[in-house]
Parts: sequence; C-alpha cells; structure tokens
Amino acid sequence: MERAAATPSRPEAVVGVDLGVKTLAVYSDGRPPTANPRYLAAASRKLRRLSRAVSRKQGPDRRSGQQPSGRWRKADAARNRVHHRVAALRRDAIHKLTTTLAGECGTLVVEDLHVAGMVRNRRLARAISDAGFGEIRRQLAYKTEWKGGRLVVAGRWFASSKTCSGCGAVKAKLALSERTYTCTACGLIVDRDLNAALNLASLVKQTVAGSGPETPNGRGADRKTPPAGAGGWETSTPHRAPPGSDGDLRPAMDGSLRNTETQ
Ligand SMILES: [Zn+2]
Repeated sequence: MERAAATPSRPEAVVGVDLGVKTLAVYSDGRPPTANPRYLAAASRKLRRLSRAVSRKQGPDRRSGQQPSGRWRKADAARNRVHHRVAALRRDAIHKLTTTLAGECGTLVVEDLHVAGMVRNRRLARAISDAGFGEIRRQLAYKTEWKGGRLVVAGRWFASSKTCSGCGAVKAKLALSERTYTCTACGLIVDRDLNAALNLASLVKQTVAGSGPETPNGRGADRKTPPAGAGGWETSTPHRAPPGSDGDLRPAMDGSLRNTETQ
C-alpha cells in the first residue's frame, strides 16, 4: 500500500520506553506510565471454571476414536470464546499503545528483550506472554517506519536497569524486588523503571551525538548531528594528529576545531 510520507508530531523527541510486567511501559519523557492490563490473569478464574466444565464432559479420544459429545463441544466453545476475548482485548490495548507512541515520538528506544528466552522461564512465561512484549516491539518497528520516526533497540547486554541515569555508575547487582534505584555514587533516588527508561533515552542521545554504531532501524541517521560531548566519537576516531604538530586540534563533526587536550 502506498502511504503519504508522514512525520511524528514531535520529530525531535527521543523517548526511552521500559517495558515491564508490573507496569507495562514507563517513559523517559515524563508522560504517565501505562498500566499492565493483564487480561489473561484477570480471566484466569473464569477460564479455570470453564475448563473444569469441559473436562467433566465426554471429549474426543484419538486412541479409541470416540467422538466428543454435544455438551463437550458446547463447553469447549464457551471456553474458547473467553480465550479469544482475552486475545482481542490485548491486541486492542497494544495497538493503541504503539500507535500513540509511533505517532508522537521521532525516536523510540526500547530494550532488546530476549522474549523467547524469558518465556522459557516457567515462573515468568505467562506474565510475559500476557503482557505481549514481543508484539509491542514488532508493532513499534513497523509503525515508526510508517509514521516517519525510528525505533532504536538497545543491545541485549545494555545494563539499562543497573546504570545510574544521573551519573552513569553501574551497579554490580540489582534485585528484581528493588523497585527504587538508589545510587551509591551520586545519591540519586529514582523509580527503577523510570531510571531504565532514562538510560535508554540517553543511549540514543549519545549515539547520535557520537555517530557511534548504527542501529538496524537507524532511519534519519544521516541527519546533521550536533558536536559530540565527551567520549563518543573520540574513541572511534582512528587517527590522531602527530603529537605536537598542531596541539591535537582535529576537525569536529560540525567542521569547527576542537582542542581535545584542554577539554
Ligand atoms: Zn549516580
């Protein structure tokens, strides 16, 4: 389908999105977090009851070739309707979430969640599947493209939760039960998920400023970048001027000269 070129309503906005089970999404730009509706969990009592009703009736048996009874079919259909409704509610909520985000923000940054691996953890599998992380990721990828924005996926080993969004210190350990991030280096106290979202957002600000490694969906990466801050491109610049030749002055990204020794 041909679509007219679109732009998000805030093309310059870089928003980090931290996906979670407790709260579905927390954003770095201060908008209210999105609660996790947990539709499957909400319907679980009903599903258990309907499943019990199914199992009390005479179902199909492949070994003996027994056909299911009419009552079994009816009870099975009632159970399936609830499953379909759960799926429809989840689909609707995820579509609304991703459409809003992709329509507003020029750049969205998410974690590279290893959904297939997390679902292998039997304590987490149901909650993760109910939240729909994988589907949110997938929709954000194509909707940002439609709307003219871009989706940046942080590397799988980027410590978005363990890093301090204030000073950049990285904790060795952070238990899942710690809902508040307290930095021992700078004393910052911030909600755990908001801290992660802020780290995701600043990851892109660094990457763009430093023209660092390209992201797979790095649309708009050729846009003019501001002069780099500390770090970033300095480490990726292969050549240094010979010592003493011109005081280590090198052309910066915007063509002006920067003295790297005195900064
Ligand atoms: Zn800190």
